[in-house]
Amino acid sequence: MILDGAAVAATRRAALKQRVTVPLSSGIILATDDPSVRSYVSAKRRAAEEVGYAFVLNDLGANASREAILAACREWNQDPEITAYMVQTPLPPGINRLGVFAAVDPQKDSDGLNPTNLGYLFSNQERVIPATPKGILSLLEAYDIPISGQVAAVIGKSILVGLPVAALLANRGATVISCDSHTPDLPGKTRQADLIIAAAGRPGLVTAGMVAKGAVVVDVGITRVGGKLVGDVDFDGVSQKAAAVTPVPGGVGPMTVVSLLENVYELAAARGLGTIDTALS
Ligand code: NAD
Repeated sequence: MILDGAAVAATRRAALKQRVTVPLSSGIILATDDPSVRSYVSAKRRAAEEVGYAFVLNDLGANASREAILAACREWNQDPEITAYMVQTPLPPGINRLGVFAAVDPQKDSDGLNPTNLGYLFSNQERVIPATPKGILSLLEAYDIPISGQVAAVIGKSILVGLPVAALLANRGATVISCDSHTPDLPGKTRQADLIIAAAGRPGLVTAGMVAKGAVVVDVGITRVGGKLVGDVDFDGVSQKAAAVTPVPGGVGPMTVVSLLENVYELAAARGLGTIDTALS
């Protein structure tokens, strides 16, 4: 079975649009001229406008200083016109992304990467959940894939994806094997898993021989190879063996975008903005 993130995300955008009854805005601070990141931001703009948000871009350019990025965060933290926002990575060389995420007001943190929000997540007191990990969970839920009592192997330990995914699965009762480039015998670890989340950014890393029959495999990786986007999973081989697998593109990517928009809504609801009803489940 293919876990169709594009279809699930479209359904979730439509559901979100129904709930947006007051003016809300989703902001992005951008400090790169990488064309693939800029096209990703355009996709976020289209999705935001589709659900009825105003989309606000603060394009600081690829030479932005740390101070300029922090000043942009301080400005939007105070600006009532900005419901919630994120700082798009990558940042210019030499700027520590965690220091920048710390400058985003936790109540406006649509990407869920402020250390206060991450601290709640790692304490099993989840508030706003980072967009990619949230999208993965929503995709698994859409296909009724169990988490509690399952063994999960998470490949990658970044603060954007791998570590929060591992914590979210652990919070839901999974036994998590958290792997990175130092992990000895990675295939031996992944073969134990009912659920494999591959977030290393290494094309073709996960092969059929690393997957137990009937496992569920989520491919988070996105690498541009010869103008094409490729994941971390050898899709053709692994789909013969796995019970379910996500494609790239059309898997986790669109789920990340809709999750960001859901976070904007949930942050607005938590602040009691307008006549918004209860937060999304
Ligand atoms: P990162 O480079 O910050 O972290 C990569 C992690 O993978 C590290 O912990 C590293 O140790 C581990 N790793 C690298 N090679 C490995 C190997 N051979 N075996 C085991 N572990 C290995 O990357 P990131 O920001 O976490 O992103 C990971 C991938 O996910 C990238 O391809 C990125 O483009 C993609 N991504 C996709 C989405 C989406 O919406 N689909 C969102 C964010 C990131």
